Amino acid sequence: MTTQDTPIKQTATGDPVLPELRVNLVRPTDPVIGRVVTNELCTKGGRKASGFVRHVAIDVSGTPLEAGFVTGQSFGVLPPGEDDKGRPHKLRLYSIASPTRGEDGQGKVLATSVKRVLDEHWENQTLFRGVCSNYLCDAQVGDEIRVTGPSGKRFVLPADPSAHDYVFFATGTGIAPFRGMIIDLLESGVNSKVTLVMGVPYSTDLLYDDDLRALEAKHENFRYVTAISREPQADTPKKLYVQDRITNDPLGDGAGSLPASLACERTLIYVCGLAGMELGIFRGIYEALGRDGAAPLITVDDEIAGDPSSWNRRMINRQIKTSKRVFLEVY
Ligand SMILES: Cc1cc2nc3c(=O)[nH]c(=O)nc-3n(C[C@H](O)[C@H](O)[C@H](O)COP(=O)(O)OP(=O)(O)OC[C@H]3O[C@@H](n4cnc5c(N)ncnc54)[C@H](O)[C@@H]3O)c2cc1C
Repeated sequence: MTTQDTPIKQTATGDPVLPELRVNLVRPTDPVIGRVVTNELCTKGGRKASGFVRHVAIDVSGTPLEAGFVTGQSFGVLPPGEDDKGRPHKLRLYSIASPTRGEDGQGKVLATSVKRVLDEHWENQTLFRGVCSNYLCDAQVGDEIRVTGPSGKRFVLPADPSAHDYVFFATGTGIAPFRGMIIDLLESGVNSKVTLVMGVPYSTDLLYDDDLRALEAKHENFRYVTAISREPQADTPKKLYVQDRITNDPLGDGAGSLPASLACERTLIYVCGLAGMELGIFRGIYEALGRDGAAPLITVDDEIAGDPSSWNRRMINRQIKTSKRVFLEVY
């Protein structure tokens, strides 16, 4: 997992100032009980969906978590039972998908988007069911869940949201924190430009798709762009990964397009989803803006500057460094 957890201070023009946040109001050693109030599929369904993702909402009223989180933070879940060595299962983190006001408007109910982890056992090739994701996805309305948190101070909106524009890149459940952030931004009435680029294998995997389209129809400053990697898109026959949208924007490189937004010094970039996706995004930014144009966002060592196709994940942090305008949460 990569989460930059150190609060940052304003250091240069365009750099964001983050709010002071409280974390660990509820610790794993002393979890509180939340109650499931909603558990529903948030994909469109259909035969091509490559996974099951459920919107799970949990009532945390009466606990320190009530009104104790902001969108972008995560909360912890302690699944019951023990691992194969007889130790209690460890805590898993889930991004809060709710706006800061919670699902209910009062911070009493927080939600997340959980993907069922299903795999083959390494040992015997039988079905492997991820412990906590399946526990949450199987939970019934009314079930009690041991929860902790919140955690994370860095992957949040800036203290003054109106000071910036935003480009959010998500794959799969990486949409979770952005659902909340986008609602927060649009409900606050700021005029900031907000662009979400959502990448999934098939269009039936799109999460919260109807809600996001409704928000786009209602708010002129919100753009919702999808990148489908195993199907042609509505606007181009190409199959696209999230980063490919930088150079395949239906708006070209004109006003409001991704290349124009990424080049603007007001813009903050948030990346959330599968570990490894950030490399593609960095490459896409570098190829679209050039070394100098990308420098306010990413700086690249001389040694690898000439050949972005040779970049690999080990180079991130060492040879490819991000500025304070780039926020990453990959897992
Ligand atoms: C900051 C943060 C935010 C997150 N937000 C979200 C979110 O919003 N939504 C979300 O769905 N997830 C999120 N996650 C991931 C989440 O915490 C869990 O890691 C995920 O749900 C899997 O947990 P699990 O208990 O179901 O799987 P586990 O039981 O922990 O298994 C995890 C992996 O181990 C492998 N594995 C282990 N043992 C075996 C074996 N014997 N055979 C084969 N494979 C094996 C599997 O490949 C599997 O993928 C987040 C993680 C972080 C760090």
